[in-house]
Amino acid sequence: MPARTLDGLKIRDEIFAELKTEIVALHRQGTRPGLAAVLVGENPASQIYVKSKIAACEQLGMASWLHTPPASVSTEYMLQLVHDLNADESVDGILIQLPLPAQVDSKRVLEAVDPAKDVDGFHPVSMGRLVSNRPGLVACTPAGCMEMLRRSAIATEGTSAVVLGRSDIVGKPMALLLLHANATVTICHSKTRNLPEVIRRADILVAAIGKAGFVQADWVKPGAAVIDVGTNKVTDAGEAAQLLRNFPERLEKFRAKGNVLIGDVHPDAVRVAGALSPVPGGVGPMTITMLMSNTVKAARLRRTSNAAVARS
Ligand code: NAP
Repeated sequence: MPARTLDGLKIRDEIFAELKTEIVALHRQGTRPGLAAVLVGENPASQIYVKSKIAACEQLGMASWLHTPPASVSTEYMLQLVHDLNADESVDGILIQLPLPAQVDSKRVLEAVDPAKDVDGFHPVSMGRLVSNRPGLVACTPAGCMEMLRRSAIATEGTSAVVLGRSDIVGKPMALLLLHANATVTICHSKTRNLPEVIRRADILVAAIGKAGFVQADWVKPGAAVIDVGTNKVTDAGEAAQLLRNFPERLEKFRAKGNVLIGDVHPDAVRVAGALSPVPGGVGPMTITMLMSNTVKAARLRRTSNAAVARS
């Protein structure tokens, strides 16, 4: 029997409906949550991502602002822009679309963001809160993976979870979230020995390495829940034919279009896993959803903490 589909689009729609209700309630209190996006230069992929984030804000009735400095921008200019956005009371969330041009000190810019507006969850203060399991803004992709597990009633407590990849934006926060949800977590990376054996022990597998179809179907424990974070564009006909050998319809589409999006898990794993997030349509929509959710949360938390300061 094929794996149950962990449908990111369906879960996004559920969360959007809840957010809309919350945003209407905030409107009634005189607050309109707002996201400021900073898009440097003209990277086509970044332009598409930012456009979809702004569109999501509009769909939900949130305010949004787009700042588009040129690719020649300096670190000082970016720091001043972040400073201005930090000071702007109407801005609840600040999104710096990565990557920034090489001449810009990305770490300095990200660390300049007010942690209260750090809706990407990349600031060291946000990471510190996550490590110590205190409330805060959590990186959107891992937060989306957790939400996907929770809303699909996949229990984490006592399970053996493997996170493949240890990046600051996906692997590490993902491992911490699973740990706080009482899974026993193993983090794997490019130096891990006997990777297939380690992965075979996973009741929950989260794959985030950026290599199309890397995790073979026979590495997956039968019945495991598999969250595939990878989004890899495959353009090579031979590679597509190998990956999609059991999916003639998708292969047909590849032939017509010349490319196909493949996760880090081999598509054949759908026959072994108990539940699997598809690529596309799995984790991708959850990432934008959690960005919206974080912006609403930041709006709520900022108002609550401002009110507390005003009362004291
Ligand atoms: P990243 O920063 O490049 O990190 C990749 C990680 O994978 C590293 O920890 C690396 O290990 C590990 N790795 C690479 N090759 C490996 C191998 N052969 N065996 C074991 N581990 C290996 O990537 P990322 O930013 O976390 O993103 C990972 C993937 O998720 C990409 O495909 C990206 O496009 C996708 N992504 C999707 C979304 C979404 O919304 N759907 C969001 C973010 C990322 P080392 O540390 O040892 O080098």
